[in-house]
Amino acid sequence: MSNNIKYITGIKDNHIILDKSKDKFSEFADFTVLNCVQNFNSPKRCPNCGFNMVKNGKTPQVLILCPKMAAKPLYMGIRKQKFICKNCHSTRVFPILGVEEHCSISNYVKQQIVVNFKRPTSMKDTAFEYSVSSNTVQRCLESTEDTLNRVKKSLPNAIALDDFNSGTNITDKMSMLLINADTHETIDVIQSRRDAALRSYFLRHYSRRERQKVRFVIVDLYQPYRNLIHDLFPNAKIIADKYHVVLQVSRVLQSTRIAVIRKFGLRSHEGRALKRYWKLLMKDSTELDFMHFNRRPNFKHSLLCDEDVVNRLLEMD
Ligand SMILES: [Zn+2]
Repeated sequence: MSNNIKYITGIKDNHIILDKSKDKFSEFADFTVLNCVQNFNSPKRCPNCGFNMVKNGKTPQVLILCPKMAAKPLYMGIRKQKFICKNCHSTRVFPILGVEEHCSISNYVKQQIVVNFKRPTSMKDTAFEYSVSSNTVQRCLESTEDTLNRVKKSLPNAIALDDFNSGTNITDKMSMLLINADTHETIDVIQSRRDAALRSYFLRHYSRRERQKVRFVIVDLYQPYRNLIHDLFPNAKIIADKYHVVLQVSRVLQSTRIAVIRKFGLRSHEGRALKRYWKLLMKDSTELDFMHFNRRPNFKHSLLCDEDVVNRLLEMD
């Protein structure tokens, strides 16, 4: 039966057994009580002096709220075992596994309340559903703060902000990664990259003093971030992300090349050459091959290395 108790109540304490002096359940108008006792087979040691304690009767029933049964709140009515120490005469009861001390709601119910937060319901509805007070729901919500909010309250010397596509489940498609620029560790994920969201995030999580410590912010070239960073990190220098600089330069270079092709005409000798060898123009000049000569159809099949080709292209414009 003790397995059934665990199954029904979610309390997995082996010392809880059914109370044989009573009925299994006591039915009331708006709740049910499962009658149990706390039973220890092995002696307990006195926390004060270490002597073995002896049993000293049971407490009156304490009610522990468990998950609902048959749509009615279910309480586990437990008569706890009292102990007394013959040496120092201190008395003691021992806690129940799965229930916090001085609390009448089982951890299992609290966990369910926390899980319920992912559904869009009000605190009042949640409180009603689990037969607890709104204050309990509030406390459950607050208890999750440490686990959900892994943000360290301090900021490193240099941070990097990078946006990424976080999928369509979230209202804002683009989210923001907050990275420690020195260690490349992710500090946090900020759900939205919008100005208001970023502002409220940093104001909420980091004190002004912490933000003033930040000396460098590495970010892409998106203009609206500039003001935001100046406001939030008054002592920080903005460093443009290398990747975005390279991206910007290569885009401009490509569009310039296309403009030059248009100027010469698509069918012209220059236009065709600029079109064919575009990859060589994009290459780092130190990485151009100057050892291997190939016949180049665009230059009257002359034997030219990659470097020669680039030089000829640059002579055109
Ligand atoms: Zn003692």
